[in-house]
Amino acid sequence: MKASAFSYARATSVENTLELLAAHGDRAKVLSGGQSLMPAMNLRLIAPELIVDIGGLTELRGVAVRDGILTMGALTRHVDLQRSPEIAAHAPLLTEAAAHVAHPAIRNRGTLGGSLAHADPASELPACMVALNASIIVRGPKGERRIAAEDFFKGIYQTDLSPQELLIAVELPVVRKNSTHFFHEFSRRRGDYAIAGLAAQAIVVGDVFTDLRMTFFAVGDRPLLAKAANKLVNVPFTPAGLSEASAILGDELDPPEDQQASASMRRHLAKVLMAGCVSALLDRPDIRVGGPG
Ligand code: FAD
Repeated sequence: MKASAFSYARATSVENTLELLAAHGDRAKVLSGGQSLMPAMNLRLIAPELIVDIGGLTELRGVAVRDGILTMGALTRHVDLQRSPEIAAHAPLLTEAAAHVAHPAIRNRGTLGGSLAHADPASELPACMVALNASIIVRGPKGERRIAAEDFFKGIYQTDLSPQELLIAVELPVVRKNSTHFFHEFSRRRGDYAIAGLAAQAIVVGDVFTDLRMTFFAVGDRPLLAKAANKLVNVPFTPAGLSEASAILGDELDPPEDQQASASMRRHLAKVLMAGCVSALLDRPDIRVGGPG
């Protein structure tokens, strides 16, 4: 199948993009890497009248670190996340996670802004942004807004963006002393969307978490910052503590059921991920789901 007929505009600036979006509203769609938009159009899941191609806007490119904040332009491609020395030094969770997004051909074109705006609940990067406490910067007819990643994702393919707004950049605090991270996903094949995944960022002092942000993906309608992880913070690790956190996690989740997995399988995998995360971050290979041993 091929896409319905549409008009095409190559944006000349962010201002020009905003003018086009204001004039056409939800009949227009922004084109970044095209790796989600074009398949959706070709399958006729969506049929925008106008495509606004922002691919040439250099002002949306680039990675910079200033005053403890890492800023990444919306057009930062997945491959840039993998290869950037600044990101490796200041947000290594992203370097690791980007390698799990699709395949090289898609990572060469797909962008950070596109992935976040698309808001697939099984995507790796939205979960990382929540784990890293990122702010999403968007610009629209009323000016610029900064939205906490945790509040940006509203549901399956739903975000806080209005049709007139453009995602400009993402900002996040650089990793702190004693910071460590964990990323793992279960998928049928490398490069497939996850069946269940976990992106986490923590501060570990001795064998105690003083901060722990566990964000699960593919187990709900958006990335889930698990409240259950709070049970593991500022207390020495015990198997009973992990069992309690695991039970709370089970109650917190409302996983979907589809051809890949049942809801109960996803809930089980999330608990396995939580135990694996604690084990890796505390360097305790004895810890498994249900506690040590
Ligand atoms: P586009 O396709 O250009 O746009 C996606 C959506 O976001 C559109 O609605 C568009 O209007 C909107 N948009 C784009 N940029 C902006 C902006 N700056 N401001 C406002 N709205 C904007 N992704 C994963 O996360 N994990 C995977 O495992 C994975 N596997 C894939 C496998 C295949 C075979 C394919 C084809 C894709 C896969 N993807 C996967 C999706 C891929 O990562 C996309 O690149 C990404 O989801 C969207 O980025 P894009 O730049 O291509 O966005």
